Amino acid sequence: CMQSSKLVDEFGVVHLSAGDLLRAHMKSGSKDGNMVAEMIKNGQIVPSHVTVSLLEAAMQKSGKDKFLIDGFPRNDENRAAFEKQTGIAPVCVLFFDCAEDVMQERLLARQEGRTDDNIETIKKRFKVFKDQSMPVIEYYESQNKVAKIDGEKSPDDVYIDVRNAYIK
Ligand code: AMP
Repeated sequence: CMQSSKLVDEFGVVHLSAGDLLRAHMKSGSKDGNMVAEMIKNGQIVPSHVTVSLLEAAMQKSGKDKFLIDGFPRNDENRAAFEKQTGIAPVCVLFFDCAEDVMQERLLARQEGRTDDNIETIKKRFKVFKDQSMPVIEYYESQNKVAKIDGEKSPDDVYIDVRNAYIK
């Protein structure tokens, strides 16, 4: 997303989008590609052994050691598996707070050809987020790692807050 690319440009972090990696994986013709495609279309969370391995391979390939991991972990199983497999825990977690109706409008307006940007899947994604992803945010909150950003502002104003959170 645009917030990530600004952080990449300004601070030289390596941006890894779990969703982008999963979408590339599903198009690569690998044997679990169909399973991943089906889960994304239904707004479900792919088992961590797939996602963590994709992230780990991308981290190694970059040759760098500072990462901005976008859209992950999505549930507690993701979080625990990532920490166990890589031995890495985040320094800071950016949480973009935004009302569902605003998010829905933005998702339906973007034309990226995604199989999950339709009203039916969007509703499922919101429910999965509340049920499974919010507990991850709460876990990191208990460790004082969460920077909550108002995601309803304009992209440039959001970045001012993202930048401040990053340099803190
Ligand atoms: P994005 O919105 O680019 O973060 O793409 C995320 C989409 O990929 C989600 O809505 C899910 O359908 C799917 N996805 C499934 N499992 C995961 C996961 N463990 N981490 C990130 N994205 C996932």
